[in-house]
Amino acid sequence: MSFEMTTSSTLFERAKASIPGGVNSPVRAFGSVGGTPPYLVRGKGALLWDADGNEYVDMVGSWGPMILGHADDQVVQAVQEAAAKSLSFGAPHEGEIELAETVIERIAPVEQIRMVNSGTEATMSALRLARGFTGRDMIIKFAGCYHGHVDSLLAEAGSGVATFALPGSAGVTDATAHDTLVLPYGDQEALEAAFAEHGERIAAIITEAAPCNMGVISPGNFNEFLRRTADQHGSLLIIDEVLTGFRASREGFYGVDGVAADLVTFGKVIGGGMPVGAFGGRADIMQRLSPLGPVYQAGTLSGNPLATAAGLATLRQLEEPVYEQITTAGDALKRELTSALSAEGVPHTVNTAGTLFSVFFTDGPVGDYEAAKAQNTEAFAAFFHAMLDQGVYMPPSAFEAYFVSRAHDDAIIDRVVSALPAAARAAAQ
Ligand code: PLP
Repeated sequence: MSFEMTTSSTLFERAKASIPGGVNSPVRAFGSVGGTPPYLVRGKGALLWDADGNEYVDMVGSWGPMILGHADDQVVQAVQEAAAKSLSFGAPHEGEIELAETVIERIAPVEQIRMVNSGTEATMSALRLARGFTGRDMIIKFAGCYHGHVDSLLAEAGSGVATFALPGSAGVTDATAHDTLVLPYGDQEALEAAFAEHGERIAAIITEAAPCNMGVISPGNFNEFLRRTADQHGSLLIIDEVLTGFRASREGFYGVDGVAADLVTFGKVIGGGMPVGAFGGRADIMQRLSPLGPVYQAGTLSGNPLATAAGLATLRQLEEPVYEQITTAGDALKRELTSALSAEGVPHTVNTAGTLFSVFFTDGPVGDYEAAKAQNTEAFAAFFHAMLDQGVYMPPSAFEAYFVSRAHDDAIIDRVVSALPAAARAAAQ
């Protein structure tokens, strides 16, 4: 890792004076891998350029939205045309109907949908709606699943057993955390025990469709078990597809395991890179929202015309061949990652869910947060910096999915693959 003064390091120092930690979202600060984040100036397709003139292959894709690659011609044109007509109406317009209809036509459990401005807003609103619909207070979430920075969902896990959660962040009150039960992911017995004790009070179970924020974990048949358990107890099932939606398959993770949630949350791809989220589901539940029902939910910029234009221009291009290409590119990467890390004797486990995958720097299997946390984060940091030095921009955390886009063609994948042997050597040291 080099510490020479660069334009990026100068900008980062400057940013720290006016922005807490220099960043507008914590992981961008490179805290877990060390060093200075490159300041990005431009992206096109699978490539990024920074303020120091470096070129990178992008494996982050803005944490998911850029499934078509950066500055896709059709998306840019749609946004430019929308911008010329007004940046915001704060009033109804046809684009928001088209986006709603596109999602409803694609994802069967979504009968109605409402747009918001981030994934966090989507899960926050879905929880309020679930509580308003059921008249119950408690929520079950799973350790290691991230649903945005909603107070009640920042609660941390107790180890191994159902436990009232402790606040996972300063500023979250005990009372808020007290209504959230955190269970180990995939633990059917813990779920049954929680319902046996608190069943009458549980408004909803919220889960990532496939966990991707502790690294990627395949749910197997866990979502189906959640569906049955929620039904037995009159609770709702909220499946968070903010990350997996329109990425794990054309129909999101619903297209992989077919488990129908009562409410589904979206973000990332649905906005094509604009700040967008959405939540949708059963019409009888969605119609409890204001102005029809008693559950208040609103947004000055919700359904913004640029955001809906970018989302529509993205979804309209996302047909089967895109997912086939992403799968092929991902398969090649997984194969080469395994071979490079094995050649250097670096313990690792590759997990897959739909088109999503990640590498854990530990011997497997990895099926929950405890196993994910057992990985060698120092080996990952060495691997990460060796990749960056060779022009590959990986997620700066060992607990993230790797994001492949339509623009990751053979030539791009070859560039990533050629960086792997040196990075695996670095991880082995
Ligand atoms: N839910 C999941 C599964 C996510 O991965 C994220 C963000 O990474 C969120 C919710 C929060 O979305 P946002 O960062 O847009 O608020």
